[in-house]
Amino acid sequence: MSRKPLIAGNWKMNLNHLEAIAVVQKLAFALPDKYFAHVDVTVIPPFTDLRSVQTAVDGDDLKITYGAQDLSPHDAGAYTGDISGAFLAKLGCTYVVVGHSERRTIHGETNEIVLAKTKAALRHGLTPIVCIGEGLDVREQGTQVEYNVEQLKGSLAGLTAEELSKTVIAYEPVWAIGTGKVATPQDAQEVCAAVRATVAELGGADVAAGIRVLYGGSVSSKNVGELVAQPDVDGGLVGGASLRPDEFAALSAIA
Ligand code: PEP
Repeated sequence: MSRKPLIAGNWKMNLNHLEAIAVVQKLAFALPDKYFAHVDVTVIPPFTDLRSVQTAVDGDDLKITYGAQDLSPHDAGAYTGDISGAFLAKLGCTYVVVGHSERRTIHGETNEIVLAKTKAALRHGLTPIVCIGEGLDVREQGTQVEYNVEQLKGSLAGLTAEELSKTVIAYEPVWAIGTGKVATPQDAQEVCAAVRATVAELGGADVAAGIRVLYGGSVSSKNVGELVAQPDVDGGLVGGASLRPDEFAALSAIA
């Protein structure tokens, strides 16, 4: 089954809502509609930018989609500071990142929390981009496949085959995020293949063949080509390079 690549630009806590409009417009200029026949491109700005990004995308009828970096596992109520999936869906979000390593590390998000957030995303018709990835210690011990499979199983436990089919998985080795140290295409393929095999175990071969598995960690226009050439790598979750519209457009065009 051929899968359309997805390039997702995680802006993290960068770019205010005015800067966001400028970046989306530059990105659209650098990435004409014809490219969207072979790649899906999405931006993942801070919550406070989403309304502005929606206006820019809808106003110019752009093919770029957008999503959020996190969501609450709850739908509404006394959860000060949290944002529900319902709000994100109302703002036209397509995707929501769940379990990014910075959430897991800085905010102590466990697999159970990631699972609850994944379910919340699915309840509201959002596509969760569920992140997993090993630290340097695990990589040095050579147990990265086992580690990622366990993290994935914990983050997806109990989802139905249909729910799994609506999910994107991002393999992001923590040692490669924001460090300039990109995994080799073979390293990325090894874990992404194990991710797909695990999804097959959980939801069946057809679901596994259809879902997109992304690689993330210092992706740029210089390395994206050989990463997405791997049979189980279906695109990238991109941090730093997504803040520069020309570079993000260039790498999206290659994917
Ligand atoms: C990320 O933020 O998920 C990421 C992969 O960042 P970078 O591309 O900067 O390594």
